[in-house]
Amino acid sequence: MKKISKKIAVYAGSFDPATYGHIDIIKRAARIFDDVIVAVAHNIDKKPLFSVKERVTMIKKTTHSIPNVKVIDFKGLAVNYVSECGASVLIRGLRAVSDFEYEFQMALTNRKLNEKIETIFLMPNEAYSYLSSTLIKEAASLGADINVFVPGFIAKRLKERLKKK
Ligand code: ADP
Repeated sequence: MKKISKKIAVYAGSFDPATYGHIDIIKRAARIFDDVIVAVAHNIDKKPLFSVKERVTMIKKTTHSIPNVKVIDFKGLAVNYVSECGASVLIRGLRAVSDFEYEFQMALTNRKLNEKIETIFLMPNEAYSYLSSTLIKEAASLGADINVFVPGFIAKRLKERLKKK
C-alpha cells in the first residue's frame, strides 16, 4: 500500500505582534493542511518590540485550540527551515495589492533558492485585510484602543511594553 505522507505547511513571519489578520491566515491554513507550523523569525534587523519567545508564546496562546498548529521560532532562511521541517509549502498572507510586489519578489527569490518549496498565498477575511502589526503598534503608541485588531491579552501586553519605552 502506498504510504500517504502528511501535507505540512510553514507560515513564516515576524508576528510582532500577531494580529487578527495573522490568526485568520493560520486558521485557514489549518483547514487545508494536515499540519501547520507557525515559524516566528528572530529578525533582529527589524528591531522587534517583542522578543521571539514572547511572540511565540502569544501565538501559542491564541491557537492552542487548533490541534494541528505548532508554533516555533527559527533563524536564517525560511526556505531552509521549511525543508528541515519536511514541509514543501511556505504560506504567506496577502492583504492588498500593496503586498503583492514584495511578496512576489520574495516568492520568486525563494523558488530560486529551493525550487521544491512552493509559496502559497492566502487572503484573510476582508475585515482584517488592512491590519498590519506596524500600524497597530503606531496606533497603540498614540493611545488608540487596539482591542479590535488584536486579542485582548496582546493589546494589554502592547500597552504595557509601549509604556516602558
Ligand atoms: P514579515 O516581516 O515576514 O512580513 P509579518 O509578521 O509582517 O512578517 O507578516 C507575515 C505574513 O503575514 C506576511 O506574508 C504578511 O503579508 C502576512 N500578513 C500580515 N498581516 C496580515 C493580515 N492582516 N492579513 C493577512 N496576512 C497578513
